[in-house]
Amino acid sequence: MNPGNPVYDYMVNKEPYYHPQGDEIALFTAAYARRLPVMIKGPTGCGKSRFVEYMAWKLGKPLITVACNEDMTAADLVGRWLLDAEGTRWQDGPLTVAARYGAICYLDEIVEARQDSTVVIHPLTDHRRQLPLDKKGELIQAHADFQLVISYNPGYQSLMKDLKQSTKQRFAAFRFDYPETKVETEILVREVGIPEQTAEQLVALAKSSRNLKGHGMDEGISTRLLVYAASLIADGVPATRACRMALMDPITDDEDIRSTLEHAIDATF
Ligand code: ADP
Repeated sequence: MNPGNPVYDYMVNKEPYYHPQGDEIALFTAAYARRLPVMIKGPTGCGKSRFVEYMAWKLGKPLITVACNEDMTAADLVGRWLLDAEGTRWQDGPLTVAARYGAICYLDEIVEARQDSTVVIHPLTDHRRQLPLDKKGELIQAHADFQLVISYNPGYQSLMKDLKQSTKQRFAAFRFDYPETKVETEILVREVGIPEQTAEQLVALAKSSRNLKGHGMDEGISTRLLVYAASLIADGVPATRACRMALMDPITDDEDIRSTLEHAIDATF
């Protein structure tokens, strides 16, 4: 890509470490070849964003990531008129920049956004591949390299917050979950450099917490939190302290669950 391109700065220059869970790399490559919009579902911290980063690097395309939230409006995605000393000027939002100049646009946790802002992606996700900028009076034809990727965590959703069928049925989907034991252990060893035995112990703890899901816990310990705990241990924090701080305290205030996890931590280390 030409350094003069406005999305050049969004190129992923260094290979992100990504351990595949199955055939997702080949499948994403096929989806990108057809520029199919892609949805990645799965619990928080299980590797969705890392996978998208890795794919952008592998495909050699820039990646524009937007962390969605409930205050996000369509204008935050598409763009708005700004008033400055010289008068009014249009500023493209991240989705518009990606569509105009050819980047992968990753809308992380899309269901957090208000429904009116999710609807703006519709014309970009069918054969039209267009983005109308109503306020500017411009119709953008998406760049050949543009692809839309969204992530969401089906576990959190209430019916009110689920994606509409009319949105869902515009995407090919990947269902992610926490990596299997061997892979998750290897991720901790590779990413943080802790001994394999410590990694195995951390993964075993996470697995037992994941079984508590639905029994007083919304979600089990994620791979991301395991990486945090492993990093603290690698820096000399005693394992039991690191586990309380990174694996238990962030996720629960329920006294019963805390005591179950504390016992598990003390029994492990
Ligand atoms: P999500 O987007 O699902 O919330 P992330 O992609 O941010 O989660 O993953 C959280 C962390 O877990 C990453 O920063 C990385 O350290 C680690 N991780 C999870 N899965 C993998 C994987 N398959 N390969 C390498 N690292 C991973």
